Amino acid sequence: MPDAPIYLDNHATTRTDPRVVAAMLPFFTERYGNAASVAHRFGWEAGDAVDRAREQVAALIGAEPSEIVFTSGATEANNLAIKGTARAAALQTGGIAHPGHLVCSAVEHRAVLDPMRRLAREEGWELTVVPCDGFGRISAEAVAGAITDRTVLVSVMAANNEVGTINPIGAIGRLCRDLGVAFHTDASQAVGKVPIDVEEDAIDLLSLTAHKIHGPKGIGALFVRRRGRRARLVPLVDGGGHERGLRSGTLPVPLVVGLGKAAELASQEGPVDCDRMRALRDRLDREIRSRLPEGGIRRNGHPTEGLPNNLNLSFEGVEGEALLMGLRGVAVSSGAACSSAGPESSHVLRAMGVPEELARASLRFGLGRFSTAEDVDRAAIEVAARVRALREGSEAGLLTRTGLARPDL
Ligand SMILES: *Cc1c(COP(=O)(O)O)cnc(C)c1O
Repeated sequence: MPDAPIYLDNHATTRTDPRVVAAMLPFFTERYGNAASVAHRFGWEAGDAVDRAREQVAALIGAEPSEIVFTSGATEANNLAIKGTARAAALQTGGIAHPGHLVCSAVEHRAVLDPMRRLAREEGWELTVVPCDGFGRISAEAVAGAITDRTVLVSVMAANNEVGTINPIGAIGRLCRDLGVAFHTDASQAVGKVPIDVEEDAIDLLSLTAHKIHGPKGIGALFVRRRGRRARLVPLVDGGGHERGLRSGTLPVPLVVGLGKAAELASQEGPVDCDRMRALRDRLDREIRSRLPEGGIRRNGHPTEGLPNNLNLSFEGVEGEALLMGLRGVAVSSGAACSSAGPESSHVLRAMGVPEELARASLRFGLGRFSTAEDVDRAAIEVAARVRALREGSEAGLLTRTGLARPDL
């Protein structure tokens, strides 16, 4: 068996921390009660564990435990925030003031863009998509320009999952608060890596997910503001009235415990992890460049306002698909994992004005808590070798086509 590829795709998902798994295990086989059972010890144990996890998640973002709603992940949290807010607003006005207006950014994950577009298509909402700058950043001024007196909700992600650019969400949050517009942020990539405080940043709704912070897949949370101006939501799932009626269904206690533990570790170790990842990220960039001719590599994203674990590079003179598929020893993505199935280039890179050909020839490296210097060095060698081989190949092809060289020579 050849060695397992080096995992540098931590924006897609992360390895569950063994300490998280250890915290989860007893809740499968020993403390397997239903957290909603109030009549026996099994239920109390599960309920206590859920309470603790709610505190751990709340502490990571400066929320109160009662403001945390557990969901299946960030996709569901985003859907609940967006559809829930829009439908609550439509109810409040009895449909009279409809159509209302929604705002999101051009660099959002599809888990924000798609629910927004569905509301526009099927429920009569007007949608404004705010453009980014060349670094993928959304300015508070651009958001201000999009808000009208009918705007109900603004959604701007805290940090981008492709190019790592961090948005000024505090400025955007305060702007929305001043104008009486609800503010949602998809903080899936940012929590644990960028300081976020829902009070200081004036956030009304915030989505996060465990599997991007070394927790398990299938569990996430939506912060729903209760202090001050309360966020109003219509639930997507009705049933037993769990999670204050906002998300019915028996809580997956082991997963909830895993999210709590992952959040606690992110609170405690995030700053140290970030320093390590930033150094490794810079090393990866340096090692790749040192093996290739100067020029011909473009760094996508913001030079200073970026996630410490992100490196997004475009390589001139290579074909994107061939580049990605040829990298046997390194697990990376081109653009977002979720859209790499389609032939389309990244909507984020396009919004940033990256030329189509370069956008296609881009690789997204994502470091994690378990990345090592050895991983980075080995990845740099393989990436550089692959880029060199493809460039030489296309040069040879070019020479062949122009008749300057024969294929058998
Ligand atoms: C991964 C990710 C999501 C989706 O999260 P799931 O928990 O997999 O549903 C949404 N938004 C961003 C920015 C992400 O990185």
